[in-house]
Amino acid sequence: MKVHEYQARQILADAGVPVPAGAMIESVEQAAATYKSVVQEAELGEGGLAVVKAQVHAGGRGKAGFVKLVRSPEEATEAARFMLSNRMVSVQTGDAGIEVCKLLIAAGVDIDKEFYLAVTTDRATRRNVMIASAEGGVEIEQVAAKNPDAILNQPIDPLIGLQPYEARRLAFELGFKGKQVGQAVRIMLAIATTFEKKDCTLAEINPLVLTPARDGYPDGQVLAIDAKFSFDDNALFRHKDIAAMFDASEENEGELRASRIGLAYIALDGNIGCLVNGAGLAMSTMDIIKHSGGEPANFLDVGGGASEEAVTEAFRIILSDPKVEGVLVNIFGGIMRCDVIAQAVVNAAQEVGFRVPLVVRLEGTNVKEGRRILSAAQSDLPTMQPAEDLADAARKIVDAVERERAGSSSPVAN
Ligand code: GDP
Ligand code: MN
Repeated sequence: MKVHEYQARQILADAGVPVPAGAMIESVEQAAATYKSVVQEAELGEGGLAVVKAQVHAGGRGKAGFVKLVRSPEEATEAARFMLSNRMVSVQTGDAGIEVCKLLIAAGVDIDKEFYLAVTTDRATRRNVMIASAEGGVEIEQVAAKNPDAILNQPIDPLIGLQPYEARRLAFELGFKGKQVGQAVRIMLAIATTFEKKDCTLAEINPLVLTPARDGYPDGQVLAIDAKFSFDDNALFRHKDIAAMFDASEENEGELRASRIGLAYIALDGNIGCLVNGAGLAMSTMDIIKHSGGEPANFLDVGGGASEEAVTEAFRIILSDPKVEGVLVNIFGGIMRCDVIAQAVVNAAQEVGFRVPLVVRLEGTNVKEGRRILSAAQSDLPTMQPAEDLADAARKIVDAVERERAGSSSPVAN
């Protein structure tokens, strides 16, 4: 599960990491007053710097124009109006972009230097690792690709956690000096602890910034001005505070509906919807669709114990995806019974209708009953073809989709 930046900032602040004041808004009308209160809270005075930032589960906002520096209530309102009325297209969103419904208005800071700091799990060493770079900011992906030596790695001992001497060494390697070192170390220890305590899969501060010297901070101040946290879904039951931060509007509609009925469903970019039982068979089905020249529209494992209603809902989800131009059902009935699947196919056909080609391959428990149900409902299923085996099924659905495409683009077709 991901959270928004304004929520991640709260988690950081709770852990003792210095974060500039900020507040989340959901309408243009709130922008001016929020600008004033944030600037006042940070004691910046009139004309103080603030930053308006889109709150979406995607990065690359700065380059997309969805992080704007403002110096007045009017500029804050203008930035808010732009962000709430335009879709954000960044390197991480795809061409269609995403809708922005929430904004953060935060006190702005003057920046001397931007750093990158994160904790994640390194599968190779099977440990958590702190990753840091003195070349932080908006280009961290390029730094990793072109200049990997600029990225420092500090493995975290699973028993004793990140040690202060390890954090100090990292801070020196990043170039922090004087009082900056202690500030950076406190932040490193705080995110390493939070990562473990909250069962994170990623805790990232980018950029971690160093501000110019000012009163009270002769060496400048080390602050977090952007943060991203992801959490292990399987551990959410023990973090009610984190689970409460879930924002359904940021999730794929089909994936949300599937998770409500306990199905494993992942939306993909292709055009052939798949309904399969067992994760392994689902993977093989996707592979063989690709092998036959098609592209799967989703991964869907209905598992062993799904009810007829759950499988019917699975078909509704697949058929509501406008990208789906064909559906392949591949069931090897073990605990899952073929007649349950067949009945769900018929329910979906009667309720929504299969306007697209459908290929069904059934094998295993109650297969005879399953086939009987399907042939009895033949009139509801004009686009259905049975298949002998997996390879036959994949070929048939890819061919059927291609035929449909050729047919609908031909000028004589109606
Ligand atoms: P991202 O592009 O989605 O990662 O959004 P960030 O919050 O990291 O902002 C992108 C960039 O905007 C940062 O790397 C900074 O250079 C700049 N920026 C963000 N907040 C401030 C601020 O308070 N003051 C200044 N001067 N620059 C900021
Ligand atoms: Mn950032």
